[in-house]
Amino acid sequence: MTIDIIGAGIGGLTTAIALEQKGFKTRIFEQAEKIKPVGAGIILANNAMQVYDKLGLKEILTKNGNPVSTIKITNSNLEVISEVNLAQFEQKYNVKNIAIHRGSLQQILFDQLKTTEINLGHKLNKVEKNQDGHMLHFENGKKIQSSTIIGSDGLHSKVRTNLFPDQPIRFANQLCWRGIAHYNLPAELKNDLHEAWGKTERFGFVQIAENKVYWYALKTYKNAQHKQAINDIEKSFRNVNTTINNLITATPKQQINLAEISDLKPTKNWYNENVCLIGDAAHAATPNMGQGACQAIEDAHILTECLSKYETNKAFEEFRNLRLKKTHRVVKTSWNLGKIAHLSNPVLIAMRNQMLRMTPKSISTKQSQQLFQLAQV
Ligand SMILES: Cc1cc2nc3c(=O)[nH]c(=O)nc-3n(C[C@H](O)[C@H](O)[C@H](O)COP(=O)(O)OP(=O)(O)OC[C@H]3O[C@@H](n4cnc5c(N)ncnc54)[C@H](O)[C@@H]3O)c2cc1C
Repeated sequence: MTIDIIGAGIGGLTTAIALEQKGFKTRIFEQAEKIKPVGAGIILANNAMQVYDKLGLKEILTKNGNPVSTIKITNSNLEVISEVNLAQFEQKYNVKNIAIHRGSLQQILFDQLKTTEINLGHKLNKVEKNQDGHMLHFENGKKIQSSTIIGSDGLHSKVRTNLFPDQPIRFANQLCWRGIAHYNLPAELKNDLHEAWGKTERFGFVQIAENKVYWYALKTYKNAQHKQAINDIEKSFRNVNTTINNLITATPKQQINLAEISDLKPTKNWYNENVCLIGDAAHAATPNMGQGACQAIEDAHILTECLSKYETNKAFEEFRNLRLKKTHRVVKTSWNLGKIAHLSNPVLIAMRNQMLRMTPKSISTKQSQQLFQLAQV
């Protein structure tokens, strides 16, 4: 059996590595002509790093990234409101949370592939069911017969829109800028992820390598006109805080990436007749928990374990059963977190901050434990 993976994002590449290691024959079809580095960072949380440890990639990722041991929520003056210390999970699972350049991560993953047939410049247009499985139709005119398909083609998945009931994409009314500043944080902040919550806006930053700080900024917009008015990061975040100003100034402007924040309304329709969706194609979340890619990485591991144990359709069903609850919790919590973080009413902001300060550590520890625990197949 050959398994066809549509999309060579973090989910598709990790799935191909995991399947190769179990001896499966795999092909990847990716729309891009080449794997281009995206100018942003990513945080591989403990759950994702447990998967990469199983795949033998812990050392190389740790070497190419920077460990994050504390997550700090602050006000816009960077005064800490709440913090989560990740040390106990580092000890429990023997992996750290790693902040890394997306380009480095993609390259490391790509370099692992030994036997997978890689087809770049293959944008899937249509998937058609036939007697032998499915016919994949690509924009370059090629048609390829497939017996087993994994749709890892992201939020706007063509596999999903062709074969599964329509599922709405939800817009959060937030703009997100991302950049990599040529900057070093002071030594005492090097292993912290900071996220500063202001009024209808947020700014996060973390060191990802020597002289490289990944930052992201989000701002709520009310309507199309307002969106247009705020779409300049320098105007929108000027004078919030000196560190924030320094980070924006230390980033080449043409390399700042601007995106809309959206997710996929939770759905149970992930598999059907030898086709299975994973990652953002199945359960895209807003990035407020920094878990979208981590969940795609977990999918890659659990799906591979299921395919090693069961015949294909049973494997897809088991995979869905094992992953549905957690991924939906991430989608819902991320969505709600985005609303709470972007409050506009000063009284509600003060109440929120007070509640965050008073939240017992045991609650955030329990939430992190739920997030980091991998399912057993
Ligand atoms: C601002 C922001 C910050 C984020 N930060 C984090 C973070 O810190 N930690 C984290 O875990 N997650 C984070 N995420 C989420 C994360 O980026 C996604 O969840 C993750 O990339 C999903 O991986 P994927 O492989 O499922 O999909 P994608 O990364 O979207 O990859 C899909 C791939 O499929 C290809 N493709 C698409 N359509 C076709 C087609 N028709 N034919 C062929 N190929 C196709 C694409 O070119 C791409 O290579 C963030 C997201 C955003 C927007």
